[in-house]
This record gives sequence, structure tokens and C-alpha cells, in this order.
Amino acid sequence: MSGTKNTFEKIPFVDLKSQHSFLSAEIEAAITQVLAEGGFTLGDTVKTFEDEFAAFCDTRFAAGVGSGTDALHFALRALGVGPGDEVITVPNTFIATVEAIVMSGARPVFVDIDEDTYLMDTSKLEGAITKKTKAIIPVHLYGQPADMVEVMRIAAKHGLKVVEDACQAHGARLRGSRVGCFGDAACFSFYPSKNLGGIGDGGIVVTNDEAIQGRVMLLRNHGQVDKYSHVEPGFCSRLHGVQAAVLSVKLKYLDRWNKARRYNARIYDCLFRDSAVVPPVRASHHSGDHVYHLYVVRVDGRNKLRAYLSGQGIETGIHYPVPLHLQPSLKGYGYKKGDFPVTEKVAEEIVSLPMFPELKESDIERVAHEVIGFSLKYPKVA
Ligand SMILES: *Cc1c(COP(=O)(O)O)cnc(C)c1O
Repeated sequence: MSGTKNTFEKIPFVDLKSQHSFLSAEIEAAITQVLAEGGFTLGDTVKTFEDEFAAFCDTRFAAGVGSGTDALHFALRALGVGPGDEVITVPNTFIATVEAIVMSGARPVFVDIDEDTYLMDTSKLEGAITKKTKAIIPVHLYGQPADMVEVMRIAAKHGLKVVEDACQAHGARLRGSRVGCFGDAACFSFYPSKNLGGIGDGGIVVTNDEAIQGRVMLLRNHGQVDKYSHVEPGFCSRLHGVQAAVLSVKLKYLDRWNKARRYNARIYDCLFRDSAVVPPVRASHHSGDHVYHLYVVRVDGRNKLRAYLSGQGIETGIHYPVPLHLQPSLKGYGYKKGDFPVTEKVAEEIVSLPMFPELKESDIERVAHEVIGFSLKYPKVA
């Protein structure tokens, strides 16, 4: 093979470098200021960012923490979830949603997803509620809001708490309102590849209930009310001052980036029209802004497609290949294959294509061209 050279450019799945180089002067100035002030933990930059992010979500309060996982964990505890309780979520989400339930001491209970939208099938929600159910965690998966109107109606009817997992949906809207303002609390992650990503781990809880904010602030900082006065055993999981400063810079661009993601999704959607590729479906409950954290399609021969695309220099992902009820780490809860058939079926067919705000139109066209060309070789059986 010597002498043969790839003539194509690689198309990455995400590209964090171009975003950061675009903002490098602003980000470096913000970091330099934190260094000068020494506000590394829970200083002014954290407070400022908490206020900005709460306002962005149309909520009154926010508490920055060390990760999205801890945000979910602390929100559940703040709502009184603990051992003996059950918390309902979906088996098609990132493992962290369920880990937070496990960390709170509660038992994770699953509701299968809708086959078109991959979001919680709320027609199955009431069937999962028992006397032990304490809370529901709807997940705004891939950037599309879950049916919060229906979730809140059912929660109110049964006296349950609701924590939105908005870790993939910063800035998304449902019926005109931002995700994060529907539930008792909502949680976001600032892992670098999220729609709003920091330069390391971070997370936040937003809420309209000052008591929930206060409890999360205790939990994130050793249960401390005053120096060396600890009212309950807590954790060490604070949002860093440097992260907060960087996130404040990036928050100003979030709506613009989300618009670019939607534009990219529209191009993909058009190119996949009349092909065997199933593009993402907008949920019928959804009149608002999808923020396309991921652009997920369904195809036959998914694994072969990924290998083929990889050979063409195109990176892809699967979100998620193993339904959570089948994960070895959750074996103790007694779930088995066949329990959530829609999630299990979808997990075999979905593939996430490159998606980020700076993705070039020509790259979207090349990805779609390769995917459609491949799918013609593996036509769907009618
Ligand atoms: C990323 C993510 C989390 C957890 O966030 P971390 O900051 O990585 O702890 C939780 N839920 C979902 C759906 C996520 O995508």
C-alpha cells in the first residue's frame, strides 16, 4: 500500500478544538482573571454563572456541582429520595441517569421508549408506578424534550417528584419554555462534548424551589453551613471557578450554536428524504426547539455501515449500544433480556452521525451520500 494516500479529509464525530480556538482570547482572559482573583472554589465566578444559567433556563435558582451525574444524585436526595424508594426512568439513556438513582439508595425502575422518538413512552408510565415510587426522571435525549406536559400530569396525579435529565438538551424548548423549568428540579452536565461544555467536568441543578437549591449546596460541600459546621454527611463536588468563568463566556454563544446544529440537522433531513435511512423524528408533543446534541438515524446493517464509514474517514457513535437494564453493573436489580423490547430493538439499529455547530455543509453532504449509498446495498425489508 505504500504510495497510496487517503485523498479524503477525516470527518470527526465532534470537534471541540474549533469552538475553543474561535473563543480562545475570551476564554483565556476569563481564566486569567480567575487566576488573579484566586476564586477557585465556589467564588464569585460560580455565583455569577449560577445566576446566568438559572436566568437562561427561566428558573429562579441554580447550584453548580462537579458533574451532571452528581447534579442528578443531589437533586434526588434534595427531593427526599432514598433507600426503599423507586425512581422511574428509561433504559435508553447514558448510564449516569441510573447511577444517580443507585447512589441515592433508590431502586431504578424502567419505562420503555417510543420507537419513533426514542424518548420515554409516557403511555407506559403509569404502569410502572407502585406504592414505592417517589420520583420520575424524564430524559431529554439527543436534545429533544421529553413529553413534560404528560409526565407532570401523571406525577401530579400520583404525588411524585420530577427531575429532568437535561444533560443533552441545554437551551432546548418545549411549547416555548426552556427545558429545566418544568420539573421540581432539572440537571445539566458541562462535560466538554455537551451542547454547553466546559474544559473538564461540571454540572448544575436548576429549580424554582429555594429549599432544593439550598440542599444541593449543602450536599456539594460536605454538608457544611459554616466553616467546620456540618449538618449532614455530604460530598465534595463543587463547580470550579475556572469552569464557571469559561461557561459564562460560552453561554452567550449557546443559542447560536444550537441554531447551527438545527441547520445542520435540516440538511441531513433533506438529504435522507426518500432514502431507506430513518432520520430523527420530531415528537408529536413537541412544538419547540430540538437542539440536536446528537443526530441519530436508524439503518439496516448498522454495524457494517459503521465499519464502512470508518474506512471512509467518517467517525460515528452509538447512543446507546447496550440497554441499561442489560448492563452488568445493574445486574443486581434482576432485569433480563426481553423486558424492554423497543429499547432492545432500537439499540441494534441506531447510529449517531457527526454533529456539531461548526460541521461544514460539504461534510454533511459527504456523510449523507456515503450512508445512503451504503443503505442501498442493505435495503430495508418491507
Ligand atoms: C452526560 C450525561 C449525564 C452525566 O453527565 P456527566 O457530567 O458526565 O456526569 C447524565 N445524563 C445524560 C443523559 C447524559 O448525556
